[in-house]
Amino acid sequence: MKYREIREQVIEASLKAQKLGLIRGTSGNISVRCEDSGLIAISPTSIPYEDLTPELVPLVDLDGNVVDGTTKPSSECPMHTAVMRNRKDVNAVVHTHSKFSTILSIIGQELPLITIPLLGYAPTPAPIVPFEIPGSAALAEAVVKGLGEKGSAVLMENHGMLAVGSTIDKAMTCTEYIEEGAEITFYCRLAGKVKGIDPQVLAEMIAILKSGRAL
Ligand SMILES: [Zn+2]
Repeated sequence: MKYREIREQVIEASLKAQKLGLIRGTSGNISVRCEDSGLIAISPTSIPYEDLTPELVPLVDLDGNVVDGTTKPSSECPMHTAVMRNRKDVNAVVHTHSKFSTILSIIGQELPLITIPLLGYAPTPAPIVPFEIPGSAALAEAVVKGLGEKGSAVLMENHGMLAVGSTIDKAMTCTEYIEEGAEITFYCRLAGKVKGIDPQVLAEMIAILKSGRAL
């Protein structure tokens, strides 16, 4: 079958996200782009993740037209394709309704650079993009704007979060760290203080990471 590898990556990432409690039921959606052809494998709509086979993962082009597959792409396909059209460096998009990211989006608390793991994957604060109807062009536009040219993740008001990466592994790790950072931020806020890392120290640490050294 065509593009088995990226279709399998969508399934593996979905099952992992489910196991980690980042997605529940059939919510959330994941896409992976083949760098050579530009075609995208994306979660189908309304099929339980544990029932997925590569054949059930549709392939779409950058405009969301189905090129191969018998199932319907996720209703949030326009958001995935809009991000990939706008960001040539992005080959994987993960969207979840994970608990703490959603809480921050509802209380209007953007995710500051508060923990070390976030630095390597989301080295800018994750902003909140305004609520728009799921699946709409307006939501796709808001997410693209929120990510900008370099952003790795956004919180989506009253909805969830979206993370991107050059590979599915990077996008998934970013998703995990964003959710962990959101959880820590939530408890810090409950405790009465949310303090990001000092901007100057932050810049130094980002430079260290860019030089290839781990922190
Ligand atoms: Zn959603």
